[in-house]
Amino acid sequence: MIKVKKTQEQSTILIVDDQLLNIQTLSNLLKENYQILTANNGSRAIQIASGNNPPDLILIDITMPEIDGYEVCRRLKENRQTQNIPVILVTVKNGAEDEEKGFEIGASDYIFKPFQPAVVRTRVRTHINLKIRTEALEKIALVDGLTGIANRRYYQESFQKLWKHSMRTRRLISIIMIDIDNFKAYNDNYGHDAGDDCIRSVAQALRNTLQRPMDIVARYGGDEFVAILPETDLDGTSIIAESMLKAVRDLAILHAFSSTADHVTISAGYISARPYNGQSPDELRDMANCALYMSKSSGRNQARKADIS
Ligand code: GH3
Ligand code: MG
Repeated sequence: MIKVKKTQEQSTILIVDDQLLNIQTLSNLLKENYQILTANNGSRAIQIASGNNPPDLILIDITMPEIDGYEVCRRLKENRQTQNIPVILVTVKNGAEDEEKGFEIGASDYIFKPFQPAVVRTRVRTHINLKIRTEALEKIALVDGLTGIANRRYYQESFQKLWKHSMRTRRLISIIMIDIDNFKAYNDNYGHDAGDDCIRSVAQALRNTLQRPMDIVARYGGDEFVAILPETDLDGTSIIAESMLKAVRDLAILHAFSSTADHVTISAGYISARPYNGQSPDELRDMANCALYMSKSSGRNQARKADIS
């Protein structure tokens, strides 16, 4: 699921300084409003920033033994995993440090010692707010506006990643293409707003069918959806596809103009494969799509596996 909202209080700040006293001073200033992490050297800071729960902002003292603040910042900005975490460099005013150098390597701001508490709080709040907004926008760009489930872009990005993962682990990956039956007739007879409601309900029903955290369902476009099931074999995929059909039937949305049933139904096509070098995720999608059209031409309201002979 794509989570969009984050608040100031849920934001984490990593304070990096070799002097415990400096860490304590900054931490005391900020701990009321943020979660605080600390590191007393550059290597530890990079390790925390590249971990599973990266901070939203990093305050780094420039003067540290071994790796100095500039170098920590440079390494963070070089790494794709950490480059979007804003960095504020902390330095002594009128020191030999070069402000311009910090901005050139990607620092977002400076804080000068001795600290002015109000200035520190304001600068930190500004950068945290920017980070929250940027993240929210990035996530919104991956959500389908009508249904709230993932959109096609999210599907494409995730499928690429999961595909590579399957190639490395030599595990199966499955894809199901799904399309609402006779949806044009539904729209034409019940109106576009009712059509939108129907698409929303189908999206929720499909999402509720998926149980594993890695499974993804996205709106592919119009009345079409796609599900990706990593590490799932053909039998498992068939079970999920059939439960999707049942979940939509169970919605019991009246459709008096369907050629298939008196309520809204879907058709599906699926495939399970072990990706190999040179094959693209789109090939798998195309095969699932062919199976979907087999389901359509064989009477709809059914799921078919792709013919891979
Ligand atoms: P089939 O069973 O072969 O899939 O027939 P169909 O009538 O469902 O045909 P098709 O999938 O091509 O029809 C899709 C229709 O979905 C066409 C369009 O009017 C409608 N549609 C596409 N996007 C939206 C949307 O966002 N909202 C609404 N209400 N309708 C949409
Ligand atoms: Mg359709």
